[in-house]
Amino acid sequence: MVQVCIGQPTYTVRVLYRSRGGPLEGATNVWAHMGHSGWRDTADVALSNVGPDGVSNPEVWHGTYEVPTGQLAAPNHLETQLVFKGTVGGHERWISSLLLRLEALVASRLLTPEQGSVLRMLAWQHDLGTIKTYQSVRHMDDKAVSGALAGRCSWLRPPGLNVVHVASEMAPIAKVGGLADVVASLAKAHQASGLLTEVILPKYDCIQYGEVHELRHMCEVEVPWGPDANRTVRTVVWSGCVDGLPVYFIEPHCNEKYFWRGKFYGESDDAARFSFFSRAALEFLARRQHEAPDLLHIHDWQAAAVGPLLKETYKASGLSRTRLVLTIHNMAFQGHISGAFLQHMGLAGRASQVAEVMLHESQHHHHNQASVTINPNGMGNNFSNATLNLLKGAISYADRITTVSPTYAREVLGPQLGMGLQAVLQRHQGKLAGVLNGLDYETWNPNTDPCLPAHYTAEERSGKRACKAALCRELGLPFDGVLQTAADANGNGNGNGAPVEGSPWGPNGRPLIAIVSRLTEQKGLHLMISGLRAAVAAGAQVVVLGSAPDPKVQREWEGLARELGSGGDARIVLRHDEALSHRIFAASDMLLVPSMFEPCGLTQLIALRYGTVPIVRETGGLADTVRDVAHSPAPEHERNGFTFAGTDEPAAQKALQRAIDAYRNGRDWWESELVPRIMRQDWSWTQSAQKYQEIYTSATRL
Ligand code: ADP
Repeated sequence: MVQVCIGQPTYTVRVLYRSRGGPLEGATNVWAHMGHSGWRDTADVALSNVGPDGVSNPEVWHGTYEVPTGQLAAPNHLETQLVFKGTVGGHERWISSLLLRLEALVASRLLTPEQGSVLRMLAWQHDLGTIKTYQSVRHMDDKAVSGALAGRCSWLRPPGLNVVHVASEMAPIAKVGGLADVVASLAKAHQASGLLTEVILPKYDCIQYGEVHELRHMCEVEVPWGPDANRTVRTVVWSGCVDGLPVYFIEPHCNEKYFWRGKFYGESDDAARFSFFSRAALEFLARRQHEAPDLLHIHDWQAAAVGPLLKETYKASGLSRTRLVLTIHNMAFQGHISGAFLQHMGLAGRASQVAEVMLHESQHHHHNQASVTINPNGMGNNFSNATLNLLKGAISYADRITTVSPTYAREVLGPQLGMGLQAVLQRHQGKLAGVLNGLDYETWNPNTDPCLPAHYTAEERSGKRACKAALCRELGLPFDGVLQTAADANGNGNGNGAPVEGSPWGPNGRPLIAIVSRLTEQKGLHLMISGLRAAVAAGAQVVVLGSAPDPKVQREWEGLARELGSGGDARIVLRHDEALSHRIFAASDMLLVPSMFEPCGLTQLIALRYGTVPIVRETGGLADTVRDVAHSPAPEHERNGFTFAGTDEPAAQKALQRAIDAYRNGRDWWESELVPRIMRQDWSWTQSAQKYQEIYTSATRL
């Protein structure tokens, strides 16, 4: 019962509480936790069981709460809130039992450390509600007890997992390929869903520092590294914020200047550079003042040395509860070191075991045949000259392994795409899952993309046509058969949108077919070249944005650019140009991706989001995301492109020709049905981030 006495300068709130039959029956102390105006100015009012007549009654409690009227928004309006709490004497035994049980529940991760410390405090205060809850469930199993106790501090939202990505790339500051996009967008998606997500990167000199906010020198660590066990490398760890994510940068100060090379990869000592990075990341995490992370998520061979180092060395340095998830973005890159290098990395004590795990498969075979014995006291000479495979080590040591699409996860178990590691992957198949990469829908949004000259949506698509006109103007390609002039750019000429009368291609002119890709064998170079020629011969226009790491390929494509460009219907741009890639995805009608293998592939997903119809080879993630409009068994609304299976030139040309014919003969269907349909499909991170979260959770339960 609450009674309010109106007075100046305070309101007096009299509280009367009867405990009989209620949760605080039997309490030896009772408080009213009170506040007003939506829990402002709260106070704990100790209630007394001695009445105004001086008689004590253990079931009736009194007290008063004073609210100065000056604290109220309106002096004649008081609204109070209250809850009662009580403690009881003589329950020491239960309190001790509860404290011990709490330790066990936190140790077995059924309660978080935060829940554990709040409940410990409640037990310490002899909180009656907590003790009664515990008394009623203490004989049940740990799960039931933790569930009931967690209810006592349900206001304390259990934090999500703490995941630290260790990676060599992150978009947009250090990007070579799709790995960079995945690290950034997966971490962002998880951050939004409540995980504490952090990234550790090398501090390359060629990072785009303009995109790193609040960059500061955070701490220094001495990283054990070198031929003798006492040598260390002074390493500065920087912190910064990239796209809202916390990022730590590893900067070693050593003669080798590991990350001051003006480029990310392609150095003769790459294996040493990135093994150092892996070791330094662990050293930093082990020395941090926080709790150890729940998970390390390592990416590709560059972070693979984390596997043996974590499980063989750092487990004993405070990271014993940290689980390891490996994502393989591309089996083609594995990373190799010599057996002798294990000593350099600080694994000398466990070298024979580690070498056995990481021995390159072909040498494994050789050693087995020669029945080499392993010296259990350290690395025998047998291994110092052997080649060890970093990715193989990470596969063996990881608690969970993912690769970037379900089809690729199956393909890598076979000899063709397993790239020599199929046997080790088969042995660890129980840990392996394929999770499709998602697309960062904030970065890749045709309705807001700052790189585009016009915006559009699945419903209002006229902006796509304006993007096409603008790109043709930019690259000097005719638009609807008309080479545009500066006047067109101002919207005064024919080339800015109006179709040419009598064009056999109908409105919107000829199809513009794009390739945006690294120019490497993996991406199907021979199919690209024959496809481009066939497309131009069929009357289409083509645009290529490609970067060729191999100078021979670069020269070949420069020749192709001259040959096809001279006809006026093809433009081949040989450089990396992020903004131009956005304009090409928006402007084009089709995107050709004829990869020999493709772990996931991002360009077909970007194309779909931008209403550009993909023409792809059925492999890896391309097979998981593109369904042929004619022969896919998928329901009609899921069909979104043109696919082919073979690796021969006619197979690719046939699919291209089908797409060009569909564009020419079914323009209404193409423009008003196919384009909006593919734009509405969901390739965001939503589902895939959830799958990764399930994998993280299952790893933490190991
Ligand atoms: P991979 O990682 O094997 O190169 P993905 O399709 O997974 O292939 O990712 C490639 C990423 O790089 C995409 O975001 C694509 O747009 C981009 N890209 C490829 N080549 C270029 C280029 N020359 N200029 C700009 N972006 C490019």
